[in-house]
Amino acid sequence: MAECKYYSFYALAKINDPELLYEAFQQQIAPGYADKIEIDVFEHSDQHWNRLTRSGGLDQKIPEQVLDTLNQKFGAQDLGSWYYDGEIEGWFCSYKPLTSKHFVLLLKSRDPDKLIEEEYLQFLFHFYCHQLQMLQGTYRDALTGLYNRRAFNEKLVQLLDRSSHYKRRSINFSPTVFVMLDIDHFKSINDSLGHLFGDEVLLLLSQQMTESFREHDLLFRYGGEEFAMVIMDITSEQAQQSLERFREKIARYNFPNVEQVTVSIGFTHFDKNLSMDELIGQADNALYYCKATTRNAVHSYQDLVDKKLIPAVKAPQSPSVEIF
Ligand code: GH3
Ligand code: MG
Ligand code: MG
Repeated sequence: MAECKYYSFYALAKINDPELLYEAFQQQIAPGYADKIEIDVFEHSDQHWNRLTRSGGLDQKIPEQVLDTLNQKFGAQDLGSWYYDGEIEGWFCSYKPLTSKHFVLLLKSRDPDKLIEEEYLQFLFHFYCHQLQMLQGTYRDALTGLYNRRAFNEKLVQLLDRSSHYKRRSINFSPTVFVMLDIDHFKSINDSLGHLFGDEVLLLLSQQMTESFREHDLLFRYGGEEFAMVIMDITSEQAQQSLERFREKIARYNFPNVEQVTVSIGFTHFDKNLSMDELIGQADNALYYCKATTRNAVHSYQDLVDKKLIPAVKAPQSPSVEIF
């Protein structure tokens, strides 16, 4: 593949999911253009620019030339509308995300001698924003911005496919821990304060989840006040610690009008030999153990089974093999 040169086309965009952006652009928007343009996303945080991988993780060094442009042109401003920059000879657009992070979208051409017509570019961006909204609507939960149940089902099938590596752009991640989390006595928050306050708790808790786990971990709103997570490249001990920290953080968090919110968490080793039902069943059993004992706790399925505190989840009978 020819080396890409950065030039001409820059776009300012606020997005909350680089992976969706890549998918929208590569697959849906510009099949004919996919070999001419490549898309990159830069995130501005703590006065620094980071280049994001598809999953939102950090990638290689940003080329000097691009860094200069990012620093000179974008800072941390939010333009919020379409405009053409004569100096850069590029179109900029902003995108309203569910989160407040600042992103710059960069289109790079693989062929410096061929300019992409402005009109076409503008069309691409309109189309892109539209597609992105649709994709977000399909796979994201409207209230919390986390992946929804549909995304959960699809991603779990992908992750449990033993033949495939979970590859997001240039980096491979291995799912190692599967987590189910449920808010304790959530019904009483609704009952005493009303649904709106309940919703606020769901939203704030999701934000805390997003902040507490890494960009490449997968966070889902599984149902009402239940959440699921797939944590990548972590040992069981590390998972226990990091989930404990999260549990404590929530117990200490100052939710408006609600004295204290706590969560119960069950997790299990992400074993690709399991079916989706077994995986969910294991984490759910550990979660159920929390609910049946103390709530506001983190339990590992394997630990509980080892200590004979819960029975092992039974694998369904393997189909009998008939030999003709
Ligand atoms: P436990 O500690 O055993 O989990 O008790 P709980 O009250 O949290 O659990 P239960 O399953 O009895 O109640 C869950 C409640 O969550 C009931 C439902 O009204 C509420 N709920 C589900 N989805 C939403 C939502 O989107 N917004 C609000 N405000 N409430 C919701
Ligand atoms: Mg609950
Ligand atoms: Mg529940």
